[in-house]
Amino acid sequence: MSDEANPFESLQSQIDDAAAYLDIGDDVIERLKHPERVLETNLTIERDDGDLERFKAFRSQFNGDRGPYKGGIRYHPQVSRDEVKALSGWMTYKTAIVDIPLGGGKGGIVIDPDDYSEAELERLTRSFGKELRPLIGEDRDVPAPDVNTGQREMNWIKDTYENLENTTEPGVITGKALDSGGSEGRVEATGRSTVIAAREAFDYLDKDLEGATVAVQGYGNAGWIAAKLIDEMGATVVAASDSSGGIYNPDGFDPVAAKEHKNETGSVVGFEGSEEAVTNDDVLTLDVDLLIPAALENAIDADLAEAVEADVISEAANGPLTPAADEVLEGKDVFVIPDILANAGGVTVSYFEWVQNRQRFYWAEERVNEELEGIIVDAFDALVETYERHDLENPRTAAYVVAIQRVADAFEEAGSWP
Ligand code: NAD
Repeated sequence: MSDEANPFESLQSQIDDAAAYLDIGDDVIERLKHPERVLETNLTIERDDGDLERFKAFRSQFNGDRGPYKGGIRYHPQVSRDEVKALSGWMTYKTAIVDIPLGGGKGGIVIDPDDYSEAELERLTRSFGKELRPLIGEDRDVPAPDVNTGQREMNWIKDTYENLENTTEPGVITGKALDSGGSEGRVEATGRSTVIAAREAFDYLDKDLEGATVAVQGYGNAGWIAAKLIDEMGATVVAASDSSGGIYNPDGFDPVAAKEHKNETGSVVGFEGSEEAVTNDDVLTLDVDLLIPAALENAIDADLAEAVEADVISEAANGPLTPAADEVLEGKDVFVIPDILANAGGVTVSYFEWVQNRQRFYWAEERVNEELEGIIVDAFDALVETYERHDLENPRTAAYVVAIQRVADAFEEAGSWP
């Protein structure tokens, strides 16, 4: 995409945009634009053939004013210091907009995991766990899965930490398997918050969700669950895409059947309930009421944004709009529910997992979903209140105004030490 920005610069410019509406000193804002610390480490492990290989790894602890640092660990060749710093900042403002008592962090290893055996990945993950040990802990920093990591890696890190600390502390990490202390409802949580936020936006804009048309870009965990749940709310899913292409049926299709087709064939393409095959870009520019980008960062640049016809966008993905696309959509009066609110269901149910781990008492899925509903509705109400009070043009700015104020309040109430 032509107008992709350095992610850390994007984060800082989002904070500057919001700071213009806040009565907070420049010195405090400056503090809130930088991570408190970043671990950069080199992990050297033995390959299966006996050779050694070195990998660069990072953990950024952006802000801990509201609680322990919280955020995932990703394995990807494009992981960089700036990317990890930016992602840890977004986590800080995500936990703040949904008002859960956690800060923001993020980590990653520069690796394409597809090129390594499971035994090599285990050695590498445990080596990272050993480096992270002094930094993490249920009251210090609580990692979680992210791109290319999942329950398996989280269980390895938990086991490494617990062995070195000679303790049992399941709350040191979230996103665990149910048998290792995971939470009911975690898998569906991101798609669920995406559609709760969309429902609230339709209500706010006086638009009918019943029969509204929906396009979903990306049919993975977040996207397909969002499609299933919005269909259950009475909307009509008319288009979906994955990395192989897109499908479209103006009369709508069954999102569960489309997922079954993807499970069988590897893609939504060719699903018999769709009338037409369309390109990935077509799915983003169809004349629909709601667009849910649930694939990658920077999926919509300024040129594509010019062609977007949706009235509401609920960002399941992190950073699916480039900053230039955001500006174009603002000019077209598209109501964009920002990622830090729309996809915050994942971190919110991670928070519930941490609470349950600490209580050693586990909730039924119904309770998880009910608590999540309350948190997302409250966050949306706080966003709208600020959006109207400052007569803002962009809901994203409103979300940052609310979130930055909360972090700054926690910092100022605590005072500086030493
Ligand atoms: P996933 O890997 O399960 O799914 C990603 C989907 O996007 C796949 O279907 C893939 O085929 C598709 N895709 C890739 N390139 C595409 C393209 N060019 N056009 C259309 N589709 C394409 O990942 P996920 O867990 O669903 O995450 C998706 C997004 O949501 C990411 O931005 C992630 O950071 C964000 N997110 C996820 C969670 C979570 O709990 N899963 C939480 C917060 C944010």
